[in-house]
Amino acid sequence: MVHETGYYDLLGVSPSSSAEEIKKAYRKLALKYHPDKNPNEGEKFKHISQAYEVLSDPSKRDLYDQGGEQAIKEGGMSGGSPMDIFNMFFGGGGRMQRERKGKNVVHQLGVTLEEMYIGTARKLGLQKNVICEKCEGYGGKKGALEKCSNCKGKGVQIKVQQIGPGMIQQIQSMCHDCQGQGEKFNAKDRCKTCNGHKVERKKKILEVHIDKGMKDGQKITFHGEGDQEPGLEPGDVIIVLDQKEHSVFQRQEDNLVMKMTIKLAEALCGFKKTIVTLDDRPLIVSLLPGEVIKHGDIKCVQNEGMPIYRDPCQKGQLIIKFQVEFPEKHWLPEHLMYQLERLLPPRDDVTITDDMEEVELCEVDVESQQRNYSREAYEEDDEGPRSGVQCQTQ
Ligand SMILES: [Zn+2]
Ligand SMILES: [Zn+2]
Repeated sequence: MVHETGYYDLLGVSPSSSAEEIKKAYRKLALKYHPDKNPNEGEKFKHISQAYEVLSDPSKRDLYDQGGEQAIKEGGMSGGSPMDIFNMFFGGGGRMQRERKGKNVVHQLGVTLEEMYIGTARKLGLQKNVICEKCEGYGGKKGALEKCSNCKGKGVQIKVQQIGPGMIQQIQSMCHDCQGQGEKFNAKDRCKTCNGHKVERKKKILEVHIDKGMKDGQKITFHGEGDQEPGLEPGDVIIVLDQKEHSVFQRQEDNLVMKMTIKLAEALCGFKKTIVTLDDRPLIVSLLPGEVIKHGDIKCVQNEGMPIYRDPCQKGQLIIKFQVEFPEKHWLPEHLMYQLERLLPPRDDVTITDDMEEVELCEVDVESQQRNYSREAYEEDDEGPRSGVQCQTQ
């Protein structure tokens, strides 16, 4: 029984979702709200990370489902930093590695199912910091670096703020004059190309190869293509594939799943139907006379699913879920019913006896039914379990 759903709500999933669905939801939201992309949504990023940290761990998820956020706090189970969780998920490397390396940058790339089926190359234009060629990342004339007068070489500024009567607060922040370096160039010695920033913003085109059979969430890493920074090995650019929904096919691992609606006559007497594959080939599937497809039946076509990644000559299955469309009421004049019935399998005979009571078959109003159920559950909570009889006759 799930009491609290806050963490699920944050990720936009239902409490019954699979681990895979939770992963996918986190992936999309974490990329959307990462401080690099959305600097004003730091709190949101933190909350998404917390929710994911709990829901991605089966034992923590259990504990949360039992006792909510309270139980997680009491169990001392919260803690990882949002960035650690993010880096762990997207493969940003360990802390040690990151100190000597620049930040990894993660981008999401929307891809159609067709592109994953056929394979393609996509060009992606990214802005990145590149070491200034003019000053070779020094920022100005060699040897002309001076101590910053604003912060007296400390790299930080201290601001005193009055926060109440007789109360002051000291706020320490990075010195803006020297960007926290403690040293800077005189205006005349500063590199004109990068304005002393040592790096320039440049556009870089990456060619992303989407190989046949790649999957939603798959990562493609461009080593060393992250922002350049003097003295640091540049981080990686990581492209995460985000598969767009397809109007006909859903993907389940290497299989493709589709629904096919057939008429009652087709279900009973056979059919020929066409399916257009993701690479635009028309396929014909048929049901021979004498065979029957029932509503909800599932059939498959071998080797017409998704290509297997790195073994694209092999393919999964195409799974077809049949829906049989029954005719509307009064479709057949009553005097013809007898002829139809003669052709169909015989019905069961029922013997009516005197002790039987005839009742009416009514349409179910699903909405009002649900309202009644939830009211019952509510009352039960209030009054404790009720005994036996629900409707009393006097
Ligand atoms: Zn300074
Ligand atoms: Zn420069």
